[in-house]
Amino acid sequence: MIQPERQRRAYLEALGIDVWLPRDQIDSEPDTIDAEITSDNLDWESLREAVADCRLCSLCESRTQTVFGVGSHDADWMIVGEAPGAEEDRRGEPFVGRAGKLLDEMLRAVNQGRDRVFIANILKCRPPNNRDPKPEESAACRAYLERQIELVQPKIILAVGRIASQLLLETDTPVGRMRGSVYRLGETPLIVTYHPAYLLRSPSQKRKAWDDLCLAQRVIAEAAA
Ligand code: URA
Repeated sequence: MIQPERQRRAYLEALGIDVWLPRDQIDSEPDTIDAEITSDNLDWESLREAVADCRLCSLCESRTQTVFGVGSHDADWMIVGEAPGAEEDRRGEPFVGRAGKLLDEMLRAVNQGRDRVFIANILKCRPPNNRDPKPEESAACRAYLERQIELVQPKIILAVGRIASQLLLETDTPVGRMRGSVYRLGETPLIVTYHPAYLLRSPSQKRKAWDDLCLAQRVIAEAAA
C-alpha cells in the first residue's frame, strides 16, 4: 500500500510537477507507483452494435468510426469525457491522444489503469474540427452512455472537463466551482475534475486534479466502510 504523501509526490512527479520538500523529509527510496436506443435492456454486444450503426444525428456523416468506450465491464471507476478527437476517431478508442496519455498517468497514480476503469464519452462520434457538442447531438447520444453506466454500475463517475460535467449534471456552473463536491447521477456518486487537455495547457492545475482523484478514492472507501 503506498502512503498517501508518497503517492501524492509520485503523482506530481509523474506529471512533471516539481516537488519541493523540506530537507528532513527527503528520503532516498525511489517512489514506486507501485435509442433510439430505448436501450434499457441492451446487453453489451447489442449496445456496441447499436452505437456502431447509429445514425441518430448528423455526426454519423463525418465520423470515421464510432468510439464506444473501453475498459472493464466491472469497473469501480467510470471516466466520462466529452467526445472523440481526431486520433480517437481514427483509432476507435477514447482518450488516446496527448490528453489521453495524461489521463492514463493520472489514473495510474491512483492504481487504476485503462483495463480497470471504463472510459467513455458523452458523444460517440467526433464533432468536426473538435467543436463543442450541439444539444441535439448530446441528447441523441445520452441513452448510450446511460446504458453503459447501468451496465458497469461503477462506484464512482469522474466527469472530466466542462462539457461532460455540465451535460451530466445539467448545469452551467463552471468546473472550478463544481469541483470538490460529490454529486449523484441516480444512485452513483459523481465528481468533477478538469479535462486533461486543459491540464496540459495549465499544468499548475494538476494539483487540484490530484485532490479530485483523492476525493474519488475517499468516496469509494467510505461507501465500502
Ligand atoms: N477528449 C475527450 O473528452 N474524449 C476523448 O476521447 C478524447 C479527448
